[in-house]
Parts: sequence; structure tokens; C-alpha cells
Amino acid sequence: MRLAGTPDGRLHVVHDDQVVDVTDALGLPAGPTGGLRAFLERGGTVADLAALDLAALPSRPLATTTLGAPVPRPSTVVGAPVNYLDHKAEMGEQRTIAEYGVFLKAPSSVSGPDEPIRLPYHDVPVHQEGELGVVVGRRAWRVPAERALEHVFGYVPLLDVTVRSTEDRSTRKSFPTFTPTGPWVTTADEVGDPGTLRLRCWVDDELRQDASTADLVLDVAALVAYASHVMPLEPGDLIATGTPAGVGPLHDGQRVVLEIDRLGRLEVDVTGADAIAYADRPGAR
Ligand code: MN
Repeated sequence: MRLAGTPDGRLHVVHDDQVVDVTDALGLPAGPTGGLRAFLERGGTVADLAALDLAALPSRPLATTTLGAPVPRPSTVVGAPVNYLDHKAEMGEQRTIAEYGVFLKAPSSVSGPDEPIRLPYHDVPVHQEGELGVVVGRRAWRVPAERALEHVFGYVPLLDVTVRSTEDRSTRKSFPTFTPTGPWVTTADEVGDPGTLRLRCWVDDELRQDASTADLVLDVAALVAYASHVMPLEPGDLIATGTPAGVGPLHDGQRVVLEIDRLGRLEVDVTGADAIAYADRPGAR
């Protein structure tokens, strides 16, 4: 099943090129945190969604619907640094996630498929990082890797947009629109093994990233287990699983496309309309 959000926070099932509004049928609130997080917090499952009579619910064409993030405001966004060895090599990194552990992105960095990436600075590089995103389904605290996937609700194409400056990762990756997600979450039962997905990322016509999640240093189960031994993962939380080689600069007017097997295609524009000079940020010296 594929779950999408709209900017008003309502939850939809994507079905036969239609978006079916399941918010009222499931008794969910709309609003800034989004229906999917509320559904998962209540213990909602794929079986609950499968029991809905979609033909009886209000629908509209997917092609003409503006989508928001499937989970617009998770409680936590966990990031995985240096989780592919080819990216370690391109960045000249000496360490991997095994030494770095995880990092956090501001939940306010999450955006949807119809929102452009807003560059914060016009004179410091900002890179695309195409990644497999994990949506936590139920609370995970100190779960072993063998049981970790039971806590995963689904998967979503996710961009971990990153400023290449000297600051800490959490600073460089937390600007608004720096975690585009979408166009929808595909439930885990329809994805199968998350370690066999081809991931490709283009910027305009240039194919920059072409990799398989088989090459993750910490695979999804190991990453969920590890992160859950640091912090409780809550329903609707997002995990950015790391990026393979091929990151590169984004410029005003470009378009980023991230396609992952079985998950769909996330396409977002880039704008420099809000960009300031790096030296003009508060605290510069
Ligand atoms: Mn990343």
C-alpha cells in the first residue's frame, strides 16, 4: 500500500492513479503533524488500511494533486553518516558509521515532493544525498537486529540535503526543506527485502548516483537496532539510511530526481531565492 500526505495534513492511499482520502474513514486528525503519524501512534497497521473500502471514499486524480510530506513532522529524524564505502572514498573520510554513530536532523527540515529545496547560502556548496528513508511503525527501544524490521512501517525516497561547510552535521543538514520525502510511503510488506533496492539520483539530466542498498555498511535492520539503542524510535520517525557516492552541488533552477525500486520517484526543484551570503549569517567571525 502507498500512503501520501497533502499539505493540509490529511492522509491518502494512492491507488490506481487516484489519491483516496482515508482521513475521516480512519478517524484521524488533519494538521501539521500529519495523519500518518497519528495513525501509527494509535497502533494502526496495514491490515487496518486493507480493510477500508477505497471505492466508497473521496478520491481525486494523483496527477493534479499537490502532495505534502507523508510524515511532515516526525518526532525525530535520524541520519546515518558514511554508510556506503564508495561515499567514504569520495569524501576522503577515514571513518564510517561504525565509528561515527548516528546524527539528528531537525524535524522541521522535512518537506514534501511538491516543495522546492531552498538553498540557505549562495556562496557555500549544498549537495544532494539520495537515500532510502525508513518510516518507523511502532516504538523501538533496544530492539535486536533480528526483530528490528518488525518496527518498520514502510520506506520512502528521501534526500538528505547538506551544506558543505565546517559546521557539525546537525547544523549543515537541518535547514527547512533539507529532508524532502515522497512522493509516498510504500508499506514494508510491499517492499520485501530493503537490502535489494536500486537507488538512482539525477540532477537535471545528469545521473549522479546509481547504487544498491545491498552496499549499506549498516543495513536497515542493523541501523534500526543501533539507533534504538541510542534513543527510543517513535511511530512516524524517519531514518535517512545514508548516501552512496555521487553527491554534488545544487544550484538555483535545477531539479533533483531520486528513484528507488518499488518506492517511486521523488522530484524536487531547487531555488536560491532565500539564499544569503555565508558571511552574513549571525555568529560569523
Ligand atoms: Mn546523508
